[in-house]
Amino acid sequence: MEKILIETSARHVHLTKEDLATLFGEGSELTFKKALSQPGQFACEERVKLVGPKKEISNVIILGPVRPATQIELSYTDARTLGINAPLRESGNLEGTPGIKIVGPAGEIDVAQGAIIAKRHIHMTPEDAENYGVENGQIVSVKIDSERSAVLGDVVVRVSPKFSLAMHIDTDESNAVCAFGTCYGEIIK
Ligand SMILES: [Zn+2]
Repeated sequence: MEKILIETSARHVHLTKEDLATLFGEGSELTFKKALSQPGQFACEERVKLVGPKKEISNVIILGPVRPATQIELSYTDARTLGINAPLRESGNLEGTPGIKIVGPAGEIDVAQGAIIAKRHIHMTPEDAENYGVENGQIVSVKIDSERSAVLGDVVVRVSPKFSLAMHIDTDESNAVCAFGTCYGEIIK
């Protein structure tokens, strides 16, 4: 069975077109810096500051393209640093999540909601899903092949023809299992 590339998602922000305009100025566009594994997704040159009730975190990367809802993806360590109680959620499921202040070079916004700890997940195509015998939304465990190998449970399988095969974990999870450099894992059912 093909092994799955493990990728670490550091803290980042997805912005709506409107929020981008407020933070960077009317008519601003995101500047492409680097393509991500998922087709069409990219890291941007632009950076913002997150201001929580406790502390701030500067130099937070924006991932493009713009989205229908602004979303702030943190690790539990980041959330504690900021002083907010962000819940473990799947991307896009933002109902009832806390907001935060985002500061850009041209302005700032107090987003009402959108701060989450992203639930670990595997992106795959329908063809990959068939190969592994899994389906969209299924929860699996993944054995991480590293210096500090571990089995991570509660991994959500996300299937779309627009995806490319990769598992996403946050920096806390990555540090815990030493998923540094090029790291792979395998699904254990
Ligand atoms: Zn992902």
